[in-house]
Amino acid sequence: MSAPSPAVSSATPPASRLAGGLADRLADPGLFIERAFIGGAWVGAENGATLSVDDPATGAAIGTVPACGTAETEAAIAAAEAAWPAWRARPAAERADLLERWYALMMENAADLARLMTAEQGKPLAEAMGEITYGAGFIRWFAGEARRIDGLLLPAPTADRRILVQKEPVGVCAIITPWNFPNAMITRKVAPALAAGCTVVIKPSELTPYSALALVALAERAGIPHGVINIVTGLAPAIGAALTASPVVRKLSFTGSTAVGALLMRESAATIKRLSLELGGNAPFIVFDDADLDAAIAGVMASKFRNAGQTCVCANRIFVQAGIHDRFVERLAAAVRGLTIGNGFTPGVAIGPLISPAAVQKVGGHIADALALGAENVTGRNDDVDPQRFVSPVVLTGATAAMRVAREETFGPVAPVFRFDDEDEAVAAANDTPFGLAAYYYTGSLSRGFRVGEKLAFGMVGLNTGSVSLEVAPFGGIKQSGLGREGGPTGIDEYLALKTMHVGLTA
Ligand code: NAP
Repeated sequence: MSAPSPAVSSATPPASRLAGGLADRLADPGLFIERAFIGGAWVGAENGATLSVDDPATGAAIGTVPACGTAETEAAIAAAEAAWPAWRARPAAERADLLERWYALMMENAADLARLMTAEQGKPLAEAMGEITYGAGFIRWFAGEARRIDGLLLPAPTADRRILVQKEPVGVCAIITPWNFPNAMITRKVAPALAAGCTVVIKPSELTPYSALALVALAERAGIPHGVINIVTGLAPAIGAALTASPVVRKLSFTGSTAVGALLMRESAATIKRLSLELGGNAPFIVFDDADLDAAIAGVMASKFRNAGQTCVCANRIFVQAGIHDRFVERLAAAVRGLTIGNGFTPGVAIGPLISPAAVQKVGGHIADALALGAENVTGRNDDVDPQRFVSPVVLTGATAAMRVAREETFGPVAPVFRFDDEDEAVAAANDTPFGLAAYYYTGSLSRGFRVGEKLAFGMVGLNTGSVSLEVAPFGGIKQSGLGREGGPTGIDEYLALKTMHVGLTA
């Protein structure tokens, strides 16, 4: 495998070409980068081709990135392979120090990273700032975990034998991430990979490459050696096929849709790669009659409307017990009427654009389907926004299992409310999905809290909280929501292989 001659190559990222553009909104314009990063060089595609990146709030072009494909991906894999022996040989404490320096640079540049994110992803600036802190938290967490990679000395069956187990980095890792958390989905994978002693090739979503490229530039400034982190932007099927076909790539960590996760799993079969798959969800949010209503409203607002409803752990189906149903709906509708919609850069905006006109169409289709099947819109908003790019937040009552909002991940600011009578009915309805990522439930009863929590078939359950994602705790799903866990004390294991050493004491 040989590195191609890139169309443009430089040791430092070139500043933006766009005067008056996004770079001018940054304290450090050097963080707006329109190049891929392979083996320590900022490069264009071999054939010079580029892809446009657009502002989801307006559709205006922000800039371009290289349309990399097979050749550039193979060069990135070769660079990661070449960098691996030296990186894995570094003492864990040195890898940890470098990760901590990267963390510090992320926090110093948080405002610029947030601006890049709002520009390309659309989420409100305050939310983007929140994601930078959350994403940086994984780097700090795994810097600590690097220092704690340990092994085992097992009791041997005979006196002349010793059995040791050591943990080794799995090797070159492919990292494929979605657009909805353009920063944290990368740090949640790259930080444990680097902490373990692996090297990586990242493919960010073509919709949100600038957050990823700025992160990589900060990693370079932190002193992470060339080749340890490589990033290719561009054509997803070609890049994905090159990554999965390569025998050098020993692991794939993917976050995205279940359909693409299944495709990558199939493509990885020939080379028997280790896989971590963080896929789609269809989270239930159950409110029992004995719940604290204020807490349940706060929880559902946080869970449902963050990132305009475009998160894998968003409450997708809201089940409310008959005794509290009407009060809950009234309070929820009032809270949703109070949400300001608009450009994420406008202060006070809580709901930004959806990622694309196609996403707006899909969410609109879910709303229309529910209304046609008897649901009622109780929010009554009439927002002055571009209907191609924005969806007004809406509460729908009278939702039923026959509707698309019950079966599919809506990924938009739509809160369908299902009325239920008893606990068994709610649990059965909540579990009636092929997905198993996150579930939430609110109750004042301790015994119900344990009983329901144990019956919910999901990787994460939130009891009286609408938030289940922190760097200190395992994150991940069961069923068609994926394989493996990210973050927490076990997150680094995804990037480590066990080696058992049997020693015969012969002399
Ligand atoms: P997606 O379409 O599956 O894309 C995810 C990533 O895969 C992107 O980088 C995409 O590239 C890439 N990709 C698409 N087709 C590919 C192919 N043939 N080969 C290789 N890579 C390919 O998902 P999305 O729409 O970006 O994200 C939304 C989904 O992610 C939702 O289902 C959500 O629930 C899920 N998600 C899950 C978690 C979790 O932790 N479980 C977290 C966040 C999101 P391009 O964008 O460049 O096409």
